[in-house]
Amino acid sequence: MSMTTCPVCSSQKLEEMLSLVRQPVYQHPVSDEKKIPPPHFMDLSYFYCQKCEHSFQKSWDISILERIYKQYYYTPRPADVGVLFQNQFVQAFVDRFHLSDSFDSILEIGCSSGEMLARIAGLFPDKILAGFEPNRETAAMTSASDVHIYREFFTALTSQKVPQKFDIIFHRHVIEHVADFDDFFAAHQNVSHDSTRLIVETPCLNWSTHHLSMAPFHIEHLHVFSICSLTTLLKQYGWFLDAYLVTSNGHLIGFFTRINASRMIPAVENPFGLSVWIEKNKSLIYRAAEGKKLALWGAGSGGVKVMNYFNLCPDIIVDSNPNKAGKKFVGYPGQKIVAADGWIEQTSENSESWLIIVASTYFEEIRQRLKRSGWKGKIIQPYAL
Ligand SMILES: [Zn+2]
Repeated sequence: MSMTTCPVCSSQKLEEMLSLVRQPVYQHPVSDEKKIPPPHFMDLSYFYCQKCEHSFQKSWDISILERIYKQYYYTPRPADVGVLFQNQFVQAFVDRFHLSDSFDSILEIGCSSGEMLARIAGLFPDKILAGFEPNRETAAMTSASDVHIYREFFTALTSQKVPQKFDIIFHRHVIEHVADFDDFFAAHQNVSHDSTRLIVETPCLNWSTHHLSMAPFHIEHLHVFSICSLTTLLKQYGWFLDAYLVTSNGHLIGFFTRINASRMIPAVENPFGLSVWIEKNKSLIYRAAEGKKLALWGAGSGGVKVMNYFNLCPDIIVDSNPNKAGKKFVGYPGQKIVAADGWIEQTSENSESWLIIVASTYFEEIRQRLKRSGWKGKIIQPYAL
């Protein structure tokens, strides 16, 4: 599938915003990488619509996405991260949108194992709760027993069998994956009435460009919405923005009703800044690495991102955690991970022949530790060059 017009507003005023070479297809750890057919890497290209400020992948392959989701659903999400995001959602629901006493029924689309619905059931007893979740394994784990879970994708067709309309519909981190908006919103129509309220949570482009965050730009996200593009899209299906907030970690939570009212919306600042930032850092790193061996410090998701964004192929990956030694990243068979202590000891004498790139928020601690051990080589941090 390749887009020649904006998928939100159909404008042709499009410009490439971000070109990411060789990005990982599978971002979650898998138990047996040999079972996963290639491709393991793909080039991604995000375009930007000048008219509605929408960012989207110019082309994608639906069969690869379907395969990813099959894998992804088997990876449990980290509990602590999930709870923080849940708290922010609940806070918006209660304090910002004032929804505590105004509903009898609520539907979550993409409810996973139902943690959020269980939370709502605890806060607001005696409500009718339902959810859609296509993955059977995840849906089977649902803890709230009085929630009706439809174990399928939320489509115009599947939503027809739902016997009631809901006062509130919400989805979190779903809309940026949606390939067919007409079908998705026809399904909303089937389960809503004239005073249904809709809450949509999705990564925020305004926040990402302001904070130079690359987090939302990966293969699974066909779209990265700005406040303007989300509002523009939903308006076409009869949902109007009433209020919104952007959380501290860059999630946009929009609250929509059937009542047409215009709201002031901030513009996206510097949409092409991300691309400039990557190119600038790339050239600084390449210059610093000239004639040196390259060590990447940080065998976590930060390390993988640094390798991908800046297109680096380090000679070695070092990590403070000795348990990571000997392991490998999927798709990087040549990159060995070694424990920091032993590596520093062995390499210290030739430290000047190395450039260390620290892909960790503990940059200052790591730098101090290297200095104490007499390290004379250059140490840089890609996020603060
Ligand atoms: Zn547009």
